[in-house]
Amino acid sequence: MPYVHDDDPEGVCGVCEHVAAGDESLVVARGATSLAFVPSRQPTYGTTLVVPTRHVLHPLDLSNEEADDLFLTLRAAVGATMTALDCESSHISQYVGALAEEPTAHLHWRLEPRYSGPPTTWTPLHRLEPTARDERRAIGERLRGGLPAADH
Ligand SMILES: [Zn+2]
Repeated sequence: MPYVHDDDPEGVCGVCEHVAAGDESLVVARGATSLAFVPSRQPTYGTTLVVPTRHVLHPLDLSNEEADDLFLTLRAAVGATMTALDCESSHISQYVGALAEEPTAHLHWRLEPRYSGPPTTWTPLHRLEPTARDERRAIGERLRGGLPAADH
């Protein structure tokens, strides 16, 4: 499958579909205008996407309040991941636009836990097998267990 950047304004955004579906079992952390959820592709076990809840492509499309909220949700997701999965390292990435070869046309941080050294091979997201929804829900439950008690 060739690389595809889906930024068709009339098209369906998978992230917006997820937000609209409201499946809380996949949500790890939530802010006022953002959330972290377990996506269908898991480059490493426990990967989350941290997204604004409204459709935005570029970081400059966020208000300052939305940008702050997004980063605080990312921070909460990092804490939950490190605690729940007992990992000391993670890879946090953000690619914006077709030239960066980002297939998702919805701004996000991808948070990938690291359990050993950096990967020696790279697999494009579209080549990863989708993770079953029940497994994703189990990952979400496990990650929420790493949140501070007041955030549950
Ligand atoms: Zn969207």
